[in-house]
Amino acid sequence: MRVLIVGAGFSGATIARLLADKGIASLVIDERAHPAGNCHTERDGETGVLVHRYGPHIFHTDIERVWTFVTSHGEMMPYVNRVKANVQGKIYSLPVNLHTINQFFGTALSPIEARAFIESRARMDITDPQTFEDQALRFVGNDLYEAFFKGYTRKQWGCEPSELPASILKRLPLRFNYDDNYFNHRHQGMPRHGYTPIVESILRHDLIEVRLGVAHGDLGEHFAHTFYSGPLDRYYDYDLGRLGYRTLDFVAERADGDFQGTAVINYCDESVAFTRISEHKHFAPWEAATFDRTIVFREYSRACGPDDVPYYPIRMVAETALLEQYEARAAHETGVTFVGRLGTYQYLDMDVTIDRAMDVAARYLGVVQT
Ligand code: UDP
Repeated sequence: MRVLIVGAGFSGATIARLLADKGIASLVIDERAHPAGNCHTERDGETGVLVHRYGPHIFHTDIERVWTFVTSHGEMMPYVNRVKANVQGKIYSLPVNLHTINQFFGTALSPIEARAFIESRARMDITDPQTFEDQALRFVGNDLYEAFFKGYTRKQWGCEPSELPASILKRLPLRFNYDDNYFNHRHQGMPRHGYTPIVESILRHDLIEVRLGVAHGDLGEHFAHTFYSGPLDRYYDYDLGRLGYRTLDFVAERADGDFQGTAVINYCDESVAFTRISEHKHFAPWEAATFDRTIVFREYSRACGPDDVPYYPIRMVAETALLEQYEARAAHETGVTFVGRLGTYQYLDMDVTIDRAMDVAARYLGVVQT
């Protein structure tokens, strides 16, 4: 009997492949007409630019087995994510680094001077920051917090930074040198042909059947096990209530030439309704110059309604209590395993998603092979 895998994103595809490599057949279904989930990439018909249909995805990892796996299914081109911020009509370097500090305060501080300067403005009395706001006040102080994080975070999450966990801000480095690489990871890259061909390659195996445009429901077949990467609460028909998500609206604009000269500019002011503008040809610097036209997306974040695409799990106190109830139920299931950002309701990056899926596949193989 084969297994059922719900969702053809990185989680589902990875599990299907690792099981297939060990002789276990699967049916992979996805309600969308394409694989790769929210990592899906496609060429824009008008400009020819490769676009990340559900928002920018930059691959970065320290996990060797994940990098090896992904690069064995598609070519990764060298790419370093360098983000700019628009604050009150001025452009700054992100993540907060020595350039940002010197730009913002109009100084020419050295690394040692900058560290002492920031510490003099930081809330050093906050010894164990639990919230986003405390984390920011402790490490960058109020001025940088107000300028770069407060407005952006309220727009992105629709709540106060004091209600959010510190872990969200811990995603971002703070540097006292001029390194403006957004990530600290050893490996970073962009797929030459996009993410979708990588996921298609992962799924290309005689023991894997993929059916797209198929909703999870009665498939008229019994399965040895189900791996479910859809939203955890949806699996249970939301009978305990809905877990909160943020969704994104992407508003496209096409133009001649170069729109903003870089891939991502964050708009940190609360008076600007969108959070960032992404210009997708700059995600592919090896081919960017070949396009006369360009396409950009303004990104608007809002509460996720019943018919919207869920993107970011909101893990605040109310959600955590509900999540615990769903998790308790999920823990008793023997026939289904929940995986991925939606299935586990966690803010996972692509590499962690793949790594967790590898663990899930290994555990399943351990059970069926003993
Ligand atoms: N953030 C911010 N200002 C910025 C960039 C990020 O306040 O200019 C905060 C915001 O709360 C965001 C979090 O830091 O949700 C994590 O940022 P990241 O760039 O990792 O978000 P993602 O690209 O996953 O949306």
